[in-house]
Amino acid sequence: MVPVLTVQEAGKQLKSLWQEEGSLGFIPTMGALHEGHMSLIRRSVNENQFTAVSIFVNPTQFNEKHDFDHYPRNLETDLETMASFPIDLVFAPGSSEIYPEPDTRVFDFGGLDKTMEGLHRPGHFNGVAQVVSKLFDIIRPDRAYFGEKDFQQLAVIRALVRQLDIPVEIIACPIIREADGLAMSSRNKLLTAGQRTAATGVSKALFRARDLAGTLPVDKLQEKIIHLLNKHPLVEVEYFKIVDRENLQQVSDWSEAGAKIGCIAAQIGKVRLIDNINISS
Ligand code: AMP
Repeated sequence: MVPVLTVQEAGKQLKSLWQEEGSLGFIPTMGALHEGHMSLIRRSVNENQFTAVSIFVNPTQFNEKHDFDHYPRNLETDLETMASFPIDLVFAPGSSEIYPEPDTRVFDFGGLDKTMEGLHRPGHFNGVAQVVSKLFDIIRPDRAYFGEKDFQQLAVIRALVRQLDIPVEIIACPIIREADGLAMSSRNKLLTAGQRTAATGVSKALFRARDLAGTLPVDKLQEKIIHLLNKHPLVEVEYFKIVDRENLQQVSDWSEAGAKIGCIAAQIGKVRLIDNINISS
């Protein structure tokens, strides 16, 4: 599989696919592929005649230089991981292809981008919206596949597609976990052995929250989970919030209508992990 490195070449290769009967599925990634990514790719291959994957570590969505500089990158290994899949295009552009000039667009997604990740990673979702809108423009997929692991991102992308009237169907895919519960993430590769053990506490805390839902007030449950997880010397919780699955606003009482989700972000050494779980009381 030979990756396509330029926008022009991607357009050339996609032209024939756009003209053919059949749908094009697209999976945008930042590489360092794992089973979570592969579940999205598998689904696209099953549901579409054609599948395109992008691998691009997007600088505009990183709010910390250290995180961007250390983000795992290995195109060769990624190509090997995808080799047995019938993928029609792997688009792996450099930064200057996506941003020939600085992207000055500023997005506003109402409340969706102003809580949780939006508060803790200023500019993050603006960068996500910039790159995803550009990638949709280049690839012009019929369907695009995103993981519920990044639940808030999914909500932001649905809002982006509505705002810009982009003719693409957004497909949400479930979180893939390691055997011990840790949500798969490219950043897991950066954990030391001790940190990796500590990281299982994050999903365990979510499972605990799910089990305790309804047994104590929402704010008390949030505090309890944060307190429990912070007891581990290697873990520092940034937030744990139980929010409405649709609008991502804080739930204040279990009796509120609407499906709920518990979202967490925790720092383990220099590695920042996020995860979430459906909560029904
Ligand atoms: P990333 O490379 O981290 O930008 O992720 C690319 C896509 O894979 C995003 O839509 C993620 O939500 C999705 N993804 C990452 N990890 C997982 C996982 N453990 N389970 C399901 N989807 C995932």
